[in-house]
Amino acid sequence: MKRTTGMDRAKTSQWRPATRAIRGGTWRSEMGETSEALFLTSGYCYDDAATVAARFAGEQDGMTYSRLQNPTVAMLEERIALLEGAEACRTQASGMAAMTAALLCQLSAGDHMVSARAAFGSCRWLGDSLLPRFGIDVTVIDATDNAAWEAAIRPNTKVFFFETPANPTMDVADLEYICGLARSRGITTVIDNAFCTPALQRPLEWGADVVAYSATKLMDGQGRVLAGAVCGSEEFINEKLLPFQRNTGPNLSPFNAWVVLKGLETLDMRARKQSENALKVGEFVAGRVRRILHPWLDGHPGQALAHKQMDACGPIFSFVLDGGREQAHALLDALQLIDISNNIGDSRSLMCHPASTTHHNMGPEGREAMGVSEGMLRINVGLEDPDDLIEDLDQALAKAGL
Ligand SMILES: *Cc1c(COP(=O)(O)O)cnc(C)c1O
Repeated sequence: MKRTTGMDRAKTSQWRPATRAIRGGTWRSEMGETSEALFLTSGYCYDDAATVAARFAGEQDGMTYSRLQNPTVAMLEERIALLEGAEACRTQASGMAAMTAALLCQLSAGDHMVSARAAFGSCRWLGDSLLPRFGIDVTVIDATDNAAWEAAIRPNTKVFFFETPANPTMDVADLEYICGLARSRGITTVIDNAFCTPALQRPLEWGADVVAYSATKLMDGQGRVLAGAVCGSEEFINEKLLPFQRNTGPNLSPFNAWVVLKGLETLDMRARKQSENALKVGEFVAGRVRRILHPWLDGHPGQALAHKQMDACGPIFSFVLDGGREQAHALLDALQLIDISNNIGDSRSLMCHPASTTHHNMGPEGREAMGVSEGMLRINVGLEDPDDLIEDLDQALAKAGL
C-alpha cells in the first residue's frame, strides 16, 4: 500500500471540505487503482516471524487482524476524521454500536450521565434501560433548557449526551453553551450528529469532545448499509474507545466501509441540495398545517440557534396534524411518490409516523413527555425535484382532509 497525499494530514487538513470528501484518506495498492480498494479480508500474512512479532509489539505499522485494523475501514476513518476536523475516528457496525461504544468506553459503575429527553428511541433506551443496569445513573432533561443542564450536574457527572436537531421533534440544543459548561466542569460531551453530518454542523468547533454518527443516514445517503462512527481527540480514541472496541468487536465490515466512502464523495452536495429541497417543501407544508417543526422556518423556538450553529436546515422536518394517528396514517396511505419508510438521510423522500414506528417502544407517556404526538409525521426530503414532492404532498394532504 502506498499512502497518497490523501493520507498526509499536514496536506489534507489544508484542503477545503469538498476536496477532503473525495481525496481524504486514500491509500493506493501497487495496482494504482483510482477508486479505493475493497479489502475483504479478516487476516493478514507476514514475510517472516519477526515482522508479525514487531507488529504485535507495536514497533512496526501494519495490519494484523481486521478487528484491529483493515485498510478499507482505515480509509473511511481517516476521511471522516478529516471532514469532522477531529484528530481521530473509529467506525462501528451501526449508529447504535457507535453510541453504545462512545458511552460504555468511558462510563463506569457509580458515574452519572445527563442526556436529552428528545432523542432517537434507541439512544433513549441506552440511558433509560442499559446504563442503569451497570450502576450508571442517568438524568434526562429538556436539552433546549440551558439552565437544566447546569442544574442536573452532580459531583460524579461524567458525560453529557444529546443530539441536535433531535429526532423527531427537531429540538435545537445550544452546542456552544452546553459544551462550554461541560468543559468548565470536566464533563465529556458526546454529540449524536446524525441529522447534520459535518457537511452541515461541526460540533467540535463549538467545543464538543466526542461526535458520534449513524453513518447509515446522510453519510451513506442512499439507504444501502448500516454504519457508525465515533470522532474525538487521539487521546479519547486511543485510550478510551479503542481498548473497548478492539476487545468487544462492534466493527464495521470493509464492504460497508467502502460503500460509505463512496457516499462521502457526494455528501456535501447532497446535504446542501436536500436542505434546499427541505426548505422549499417545508414552506409549502407550513401553509397547509397548523404546526410545523422545521428549524429554518419562523415559529420554531430554536430557529436563531439553528441558524447560528448549522450551515443549512438538513433534510428532515416534522409536522403535526390535528386529526391524530388516524389522519397521519391517512396522509401516509395517500402518498404516491414519497415512500412510507422510517429511514432518514436517503436521497429518496421518505415519511413516517414516529408514534407508531421509531418511538413506539417509548409508550404513550414517554412520547407525551418527549413531545411526540399522535398526529406527528416526519419527512426526509430527498433529491427528487421538490415540485414533484410538493404535488404529491398536496394531493395526499387533500385526501387526508387538509
Ligand atoms: C438512526 C439514528 C441512530 C441509530 O443509527 P443506526 O445506524 O440505525 O444504528 C442514532 N441516532 C440518530 C439521531 C439516528 O437518526
